[in-house]
Amino acid sequence: RYQSLAYNRVLEIHKQHLSPVLTAYFSEPLLLHQGHMEWLFDYEGNRYLDFFSGIVTVSVGHCHPKVNAVAQKQLGRLWHTSAVFFHPPIHEYAEKLSALLPEPVIFLMNSGSEANDLAMLMARAHSNNTDIISFRGAYHGCSPYTLGLTNVGFHKMELPSGMGCQSTMCPDVFCGPWGGSHCRDSPVQTIRKCSCAPDCCQAKDQYIEQFKDTLNTSVAKSIAGFFAEPIQGVNGVVQYPKGFLKEAFELVRERGGVCIADEVQTGFGRLGSHFWGFQTHGVLPDIVTMAKGIGNGFPMAAVVTTPEIAKSLAKRLLHFNTFGGNPMACAIGSSVLEVIKEENLQENSQEVGTYMLLKFAKLRDEFEIVGDVRGKGLMIGIEMVKDKTSRQPLPREEVNQIHQDCKRMGLLIGRGGTFSQTFRIAPSMCITKPEVDFAVEVFRSAFIQHMESQDK
Ligand code: PMP
Repeated sequence: RYQSLAYNRVLEIHKQHLSPVLTAYFSEPLLLHQGHMEWLFDYEGNRYLDFFSGIVTVSVGHCHPKVNAVAQKQLGRLWHTSAVFFHPPIHEYAEKLSALLPEPVIFLMNSGSEANDLAMLMARAHSNNTDIISFRGAYHGCSPYTLGLTNVGFHKMELPSGMGCQSTMCPDVFCGPWGGSHCRDSPVQTIRKCSCAPDCCQAKDQYIEQFKDTLNTSVAKSIAGFFAEPIQGVNGVVQYPKGFLKEAFELVRERGGVCIADEVQTGFGRLGSHFWGFQTHGVLPDIVTMAKGIGNGFPMAAVVTTPEIAKSLAKRLLHFNTFGGNPMACAIGSSVLEVIKEENLQENSQEVGTYMLLKFAKLRDEFEIVGDVRGKGLMIGIEMVKDKTSRQPLPREEVNQIHQDCKRMGLLIGRGGTFSQTFRIAPSMCITKPEVDFAVEVFRSAFIQHMESQDK
C-alpha cells in the first residue's frame, strides 16, 4: 500500500495525524523509498548521498548486508525476552562492548534520552547530591528529566523541567567571547585569532575561569555530576579547547561529582583517532552514555559505568526496562561492532574525515560566507556567516537556500547551531574520497549560486 501512496497523500497524513512539532527539513520533503550504505533513494528514483546518516545514526551504512543478515537470523529465532530470562546474544553483546571500556558495568536501554535519564539518576544516587551541570548549547535528550540538561533554545519549553540542572558557558572558540587559533583537536583551526603564543592557549584558561564561576556561584558546594558531549552535535559540531575537559573533570570530582561523557554522536569510531570521543580529551569518565550509531539505526542505547556507581544504584532501587537488552538490538549491536572492526571504519573515518576537513578548509578560504570549518573524523561543522569579520550568522533563509540547493544536487546534510547557521556533516563511516570530492563540488556550486543571487 505504501508503495503506491501518493506524495500529496503522505503530506496530508503527516499533517493530520503525526506530531505537529515534527517539521520536515525541506519545503518539499523527501519521500524515501530505500537506502543502501551511504546512499538513499526516493520514490522517483533519484539518489542522494546521505551525509547526515539519519542524524549521525547509521554508523556502518543503510541496510548493511552483514547487519541485515544477522537481524534476519535473529528475527526467526527470538524477538523478545524480558530481563528475567537469559539469551546468549544479549550476553555476547555485553562481552563485546565491555572489551572496549575499562571495568564496565552495562545497562542496556533504547534511546539516548533514556540513557541520559539513567545516567542522571546514577550520578545522584552515587554522589548523594542533586546539582548537575551541562554546557549551554548541549543536547542530551528531550525527556522531561534530560530537558534540564539540554540547553538548546528551541528545545526549551515554558514548562518546569530539570530540577537541579545548571548550565555553564560553552567553551566555543569561534562564537564565544575568547577565540583560539590553535587550540582545537582538529586538522583545521579556527581563523579567529587568539593573542597567545603557538604553544599555549589562554582561551582554555578563560573558559575554565567561567566554569569555576559556575561552580562557585550557581550550584551547591557538592554536586552530583557534569555532562559533556566530547564534541557538541546539535549545537553545530562545537569543539572545546584542548585540555578543557580534563581540568573541568578535576574540578567536578573535587566537589564530589561524577563525570559523564555523552557519546551518543561521537562514539563508535566516528572521530577517527579514537573509538570514544572522551579519549580524544585524555579523560576517563565515570559514566558513558551511547545510542544512535550503536545500533546503526535500530533503537538501542546503553549506559556504561563503574562497578561502584552501579552498586550505588542497585542499593537504592530495582531499575527495570522492558526493551533494554532486546535480542534483536543486541544481535544487531554485535554485528555493528564486528563491521566497524572488519571494515576498518574507524581508520576510514580518520582518513576520509581529515581529507574532507582539509578540502572544506579550502572552501572556507575561498568564500566569505564560510566562517568556520571544524570537527574531527566524520563529525564536521561548516558555520555560515554574513562575513568573516563580524562572524554574525548568515540569515536563516539564505542558509535554507544553500541547504535546498545541496539537496537538489543530490547531497543531504544536517543543520545545527542556535540560529541553524551550521551545516553538519556526519555520513556513515563507509564513505569514500570520491564521494567527498562530489560533496565538496556540490557545496562550491551552492555557494557560487548564493553569491550570484546576492549580486542580483
Ligand atoms: N545525546 C546526544 C548527544 C544527542 O545528539 C541525542 C539526540 N540528538 C541524544 C542524546 C538523545 O537521543 P535520543 O534522540 O535517542 O533520545
